[in-house]
Amino acid sequence: MNKEELWQTVLAQIQLNMSPASFNTWFKNTSFSDLDNGQATVSVPSFFVKGWLEQKYNKTIFKILRDLSAEIKEVKYVVGEQTPRTVKKEHLPADSGEQSGFFDLRANKETNLNPRYTFENFIIGSFNELPHAAALATAENPGHIYNPLFIYGGVGLGKTHLLQATGNEIVKRFPDKKIKYVSSEKFTSEVVASMRNKAMENIKSKYRTIDVLIIDDIQFLSGKERTQEEFFHTFNHLYEKNKQIILSSDRPPKAISALTERLRSRFEGGMIADISYPDLETRMAILKQKTQEKNISLPDEIIALVASKIQKNIRELEGALNTLLVHYKASDSFGIEDAMAILKKTIIAPTKTTTPKKIIQAVADFYDIKEKTLLMASRKKEIVTPRQIAMFLLREDLKCSFPFIGQKLGGKDHTTAIHSYEKINKEVENNSNLKEEIELIRQNVSTL
Ligand code: ADP
Ligand code: MG
Repeated sequence: MNKEELWQTVLAQIQLNMSPASFNTWFKNTSFSDLDNGQATVSVPSFFVKGWLEQKYNKTIFKILRDLSAEIKEVKYVVGEQTPRTVKKEHLPADSGEQSGFFDLRANKETNLNPRYTFENFIIGSFNELPHAAALATAENPGHIYNPLFIYGGVGLGKTHLLQATGNEIVKRFPDKKIKYVSSEKFTSEVVASMRNKAMENIKSKYRTIDVLIIDDIQFLSGKERTQEEFFHTFNHLYEKNKQIILSSDRPPKAISALTERLRSRFEGGMIADISYPDLETRMAILKQKTQEKNISLPDEIIALVASKIQKNIRELEGALNTLLVHYKASDSFGIEDAMAILKKTIIAPTKTTTPKKIIQAVADFYDIKEKTLLMASRKKEIVTPRQIAMFLLREDLKCSFPFIGQKLGGKDHTTAIHSYEKINKEVENNSNLKEEIELIRQNVSTL
């Protein structure tokens, strides 16, 4: 593997565990500028990014690199010349189109839709047949058939793809319609910002004049009352005018906690369709389609191997494929054993189960304090906030009980745990730095 391919592989791995927004923020325009004497030098676009990568990602990057190449002993970050886009298409065939899967984030500014997601490249199997059919029918006749259209399913199973494909199809069929795709986090932060600036009118005029409103990952509205309230009014406004609303969530409406009853019943008033898990055959079809998009043919037995190892997440399936492809192209005699070894080392090995212990460790690592200190009775702010964040994550991500959380973090009682949880839950709504930090901690948890 040359140094560029090495870095591509690192990126492919990192991308698996990170939201596209974070990935774009921290890894866009990064590249390997040097690899010498065990020292890898990564060129980054700014001091800001340099600081973040050093502080927050170095461990992860180093770990991945070490797995790929044992000779690497150290990673250094330098602010370089504005490097060209990291993921150069040059090692992909020239006619591979724009479907490389990385950095393909050229969403349309007006609609926020990314042209990479279409119905044409969406593989259908029994696991997603119903949501696909409902989405297609909605695209053919927006506002009149299923309203709202509510798609739910686990992580990496194609919700965003399907929502965006529906939006793109509507653009194609109805060029005059005003369409907007937004994540519920973005929507929330807009509502919060407008409240702060006393500019709610802006939100109203922005969202109530749309013909098709698509909101992704609506479960994040849970507990955010003010945002729900605003959304409820927007929803009613659009609904009454037969405007199409399309929503996704990782769970059905009735399982979204802290969702106001009236919003829940609104969601349940339309079409609810769930995406389950693709079977082996469909997973192979998806992998084949992705290799075709890249114009590379991978032996069937390798495709079958990947498909059999990764079962519950299409994003991971793609990530594994991308990693293998880099190795495959770099070696003349790449066989099934090599594929197996790589999958074992890089993808299957880190079992992604989150445990309380991992959360506590990741929080301690992130804030650079000892785990023991985190558990002590200290009231210093540098300790208190991380401890609260740990409590928040135990609740949010593992659904631990408050008494358990209190006890786990230094024998506090459950009211402390509740208070901590609520405090952080509220703060993340308004504090984008904190939110980013928590996201990063989550990513670190998944690498432990
Ligand atoms: P979710 O939003 O449910 O977490 P995504 O829509 O982001 O999942 O899908 C993850 C990745 O898997 C994307 O790259 C997407 O293009 C791909 N993908 C998901 N479902 C399919 C499918 N049915 N056919 C082809 N690719 C898919
Ligand atoms: Mg998604």
